[in-house]
Amino acid sequence: MCPSGKRSYISEALATDALIEAHIQFEYRTGNGPVAFYKCEDCGAYHLTSNGVMNTRLAEALANGTIKRQKAAAGWNDKLKKRW
Ligand SMILES: [Zn+2]
Repeated sequence: MCPSGKRSYISEALATDALIEAHIQFEYRTGNGPVAFYKCEDCGAYHLTSNGVMNTRLAEALANGTIKRQKAAAGWNDKLKKRW
């Protein structure tokens, strides 16, 4: 358990997925919401952050419409929504 109280991800891949999932799940205004992840010095795991430079994978997913499509798909399949 991290002293920061933030949710921990054990790998960069999981943190990236969580970052993108968050944007699919929630409607963030431009400039809000998590944009990147960082390796925590306290727990050694990764946490999402709304500060800093936007993660490349997230920027791509936003730019190429992946997140929009996933949002639409999630809306149609509420019951299949992953818990995370
Ligand atoms: Zn931590």
